[in-house]
Parts: sequence; structure tokens; C-alpha cells
Amino acid sequence: MKEELPKGYDCPACGRFHRFSPWVYAHWDIAITHSCNCGVEATILMGRAYPPDSDIEEIQEEEEQRKQAEQLVNAMTEGIEETS
Ligand SMILES: [Zn+2]
Repeated sequence: MKEELPKGYDCPACGRFHRFSPWVYAHWDIAITHSCNCGVEATILMGRAYPPDSDIEEIQEEEEQRKQAEQLVNAMTEGIEETS
């Protein structure tokens, strides 16, 4: 299953759209910050924007769990395909 990467993010405070630069894609898996014109520094992680007061460690943990859950679902789907 191929997911299309988001092209940018909406500022969590004012909703302004910001296009991701190649640099953002190069740092996809790590939390980076981006300052909006409204003065809010959003944290960008894997294409999602989080307000500046977010607990990034918690978010990364959740992302990790989400990935593991996805892998589990994939493994189960494969298992079903194999036995049917
Ligand atoms: Zn903004």
C-alpha cells in the first residue's frame, strides 16, 4: 500500500498552508520546527503539524506504535492470503 506524501501542512494556529521543501522530506522521520507568519512555531513530524507545546517524544512513540500496528495488520493480511 503506497501512501502519497502530503505536499505541505496547515498551520495549527491560523490555518495558513505551507508547502514542504525538499529539506522537510529529507527530515521526514525527525521532528523539525517551522515558523509561520503568524508567529507560531509548529512542529512537523512525518508530514503532520503539531502545536508548539506538543510532547514530541509522546508523538514519536505514538507514530512508532501506529507503524507497528500497520505492520501487524500487513502481516495478518499476508497470512490470510497465504492460507486462502
Ligand atoms: Zn500560522
